[in-house]
Amino acid sequence: MTKNRLMGIAASDGIAIGRAYLLTEPDLTFEKRIVEDPEGEITRFLDSFEKAKKEVQAIRDHVAKAVGEEEAQVFDAHVMVLSDPELMNSIKDNIQTNRVNAEQAVHDVTTMFIQMFEAMEDNPYMQERAADIRDVSERVMSHLLGVKIPTPSTIKEEVVIVARDLTPSDTAQLNRQYVKGFVTDIGGRTSHSAIMARSLEIPAVVGTQSVTTQVTDGDMVIIDGLDGNIIINPDGETLAKYQEKATVYEAQKTEWAKLKNAATVTKDGKHVELGANIGTPKDLTGVLANGAEAIGLYRTEFLYMDSDTFPSEEEQFEAYKTVLQEMDGKPVVVRTMDIGGDKELPYLELPEEMNPFLGYRAIRICLAEPEMFRTQLRALLRASVYGTLRIMFPMIATLNEFRAAKQLLEEEKAKLIEEGVEVSNDIQVGIMIEIPAAAVLAHQFAKEVDFFSVGTNDLIQYTMAADRMSQQVSYLYQPYNPSILTLLKHVIDSAHAQGKWVGMCGEMAGDQMAVPLLLGLGLDEFSMSASSILQTRSLLAKLDTNEMKELADKAINECTTVEEVMELVTTFKETLEN
Ligand code: PEP
Ligand code: MG
Repeated sequence: MTKNRLMGIAASDGIAIGRAYLLTEPDLTFEKRIVEDPEGEITRFLDSFEKAKKEVQAIRDHVAKAVGEEEAQVFDAHVMVLSDPELMNSIKDNIQTNRVNAEQAVHDVTTMFIQMFEAMEDNPYMQERAADIRDVSERVMSHLLGVKIPTPSTIKEEVVIVARDLTPSDTAQLNRQYVKGFVTDIGGRTSHSAIMARSLEIPAVVGTQSVTTQVTDGDMVIIDGLDGNIIINPDGETLAKYQEKATVYEAQKTEWAKLKNAATVTKDGKHVELGANIGTPKDLTGVLANGAEAIGLYRTEFLYMDSDTFPSEEEQFEAYKTVLQEMDGKPVVVRTMDIGGDKELPYLELPEEMNPFLGYRAIRICLAEPEMFRTQLRALLRASVYGTLRIMFPMIATLNEFRAAKQLLEEEKAKLIEEGVEVSNDIQVGIMIEIPAAAVLAHQFAKEVDFFSVGTNDLIQYTMAADRMSQQVSYLYQPYNPSILTLLKHVIDSAHAQGKWVGMCGEMAGDQMAVPLLLGLGLDEFSMSASSILQTRSLLAKLDTNEMKELADKAINECTTVEEVMELVTTFKETLEN
């Protein structure tokens, strides 16, 4: 039975209302049939080729305009396959000789060509032809069967995307002008598609479990990214209610926008730094529009993920330089590559692992492949003279890892200086605290690093042993659990004892329930999706540091469960609203 309402995890603020665009794998299964009328099947097959050709040409034109001529060329190859007389004659012969339906003939002939080309293992050109034929045969099959192959890059009207999951690269390709929101079956608040939705400021709900089976293309869908509700084909009254909610939210945003150029100070006048998290230099627009005082996390792995090969030193240098220059002297914390977990590179083969989040990733790869790491470090060091650079290593578990990474950085710095290249002599070097072993040993780390930035997305999943991607155990993903707060207190106190600062770049930093507690724990810098900055600035202005210290002490010393902490904070926040 289809449902009219679903509940998921609110992943990106805002309300989106629009027609559904299903981004799901098409069902291309068919049955073999023996036909009486081969000529009729030949007409069907020719017709499907013609339609596929028109469609590919339209996509080609669109990609050429929207992305670039080079990227569009792959579609020329598809048009050639769709006009190839050898392929077409073989399909025709197959229908006439075997008297089978067009689907079966297309399948048999294309499979034969694909296998033939794939057998030429040493010939990359032939491998590409095999891939082209596979793509084309799917498209032709979709026309024969009357099912749609989704092509999100060509969307030309306002829609909401409905998908089982969205990879970070799918999310990056969404056109903000037309994509008003998205909703998925799987994922959690800290999965990278959710994080990207927040930086693109697209309302999103993830982890509904079944939205793809409840919604059909063209249904009217409301996505409430504030509460996690999904309403399918709403009645007039519900639609009006959500239109009103969207208006109220927009008005609230307008209020927050007035704080764009304001300093971030608490009620008692303490300044805290409010930074933004970015994935690519393109995100800077949102960062500047929302008045960030720093970049607290630049996830450089997206540079690697957006490319077909490892980005060269020059390409990396240009990206880092752009970000530093645009931030005009404000601090920029660049995290070295954090590949692995849910972030894969098409050109880097990673081992199949049972638990990729606990496996070969981030600094572990960088230390095992030092040449690749050195390239990134050189690019960073060269860019350092264009602003205030801070370098941060991810997934540090031991001091030996930090020392080894720092040693490579020092070596590259010395080499550059010897080559006469200018390098800033004021680069802070810190680590992410996202592995419990490093959090527990923070008092030792604090003696050697310049700063900590707490990556709660991973720290919470490792401390609670609850996979951040799993909705079954998402109830255990508890940022306000007294155990997490106790760990944070130890990290912050340890850093302060050594005169070091502590930031937080995990999603908890922008969580409006967590902010009072984090201020009370003494956090120095909060870094979050750009879209959360202004509301956090507004909230911080209402908080008194000493009062928050008492609140955090209570949460740690008197509360025994996450529910008790939430009640404590909710009760406190109600006093703010009155
Ligand atoms: C984190 O783990 O909190 C973090 C900021 O890193 P990522 O989300 O990229 O793993
Ligand atoms: Mg992390």
